[in-house]
Amino acid sequence: MALMITDECINCDVCEPECPNDAISMGEDYYVIAPHQCTECVGHFDTPQCVEICPVACIPVNPEYIESKETLWQKFERLRAQQESQASVAEAGVAP
Ligand code: SF4
Ligand code: SF4
Repeated sequence: MALMITDECINCDVCEPECPNDAISMGEDYYVIAPHQCTECVGHFDTPQCVEICPVACIPVNPEYIESKETLWQKFERLRAQQESQASVAEAGVAP
């Protein structure tokens, strides 16, 4: 399942740097989670890091993105492959 941030968010900024998938960003009024990038921290941590750190407990499951653990692992693998490919493109760009 991807998670989501509700309008109870107080924009305290602490969750954004904790996300291993760069899924959290500032939205129009408060922080938002990109569902296609959120693995519920599967592949990185045992528990969702944003939920652990949020002082107002405003990060529930996104009911529009109910995913099994297996699907979350597949999402993690896909994101990792994307990151590796972007890193190699960046490396190629700075090579002489
Ligand atoms: S659960 Fe993990 S991957 Fe999803 S938004 Fe929170 S920190 Fe990022
Ligand atoms: S930690 Fe919670 S309150 Fe703070 S910005 Fe993130 S979602 Fe909002």
